Amino acid sequence: MSKVDAEAVVPTSVERDAMHALYRQGGRESQMAPHIVYTEASCPHDDYDQPMQAIDFRMEDHGRAVHDALVWAWWDDTGFAGRCPRCGGWIHFTIRGKRAISPDEAAGFPQLPADWFDRATIL
Ligand SMILES: [Zn+2]
Repeated sequence: MSKVDAEAVVPTSVERDAMHALYRQGGRESQMAPHIVYTEASCPHDDYDQPMQAIDFRMEDHGRAVHDALVWAWWDDTGFAGRCPRCGGWIHFTIRGKRAISPDEAAGFPQLPADWFDRATIL
């Protein structure tokens, strides 16, 4: 493959941002429930102990108010905070990734219900 061909198939960051924006817009318009497959396979706190690559948050199981607030935050790119079922560490979940955060940081985000992982499907 020539260099030109290789560049043609790898999206630039501008193109990636445009795809991300399109994806968010579609999700927000349909109020799609957040499901996500992350590139990182586990909890960001505890080094591969807690599998956490694919998550179906099952917002609809927590009532309308919780569902609406969290679905909005998700598609708004704010994301939300929730605790790891194994280590209890706070995690910031967004469309683009998940990261370990402090309890203070978690207080600044919309939060998943304390029992979110009992309803969610986490693989
Ligand atoms: Zn953990």
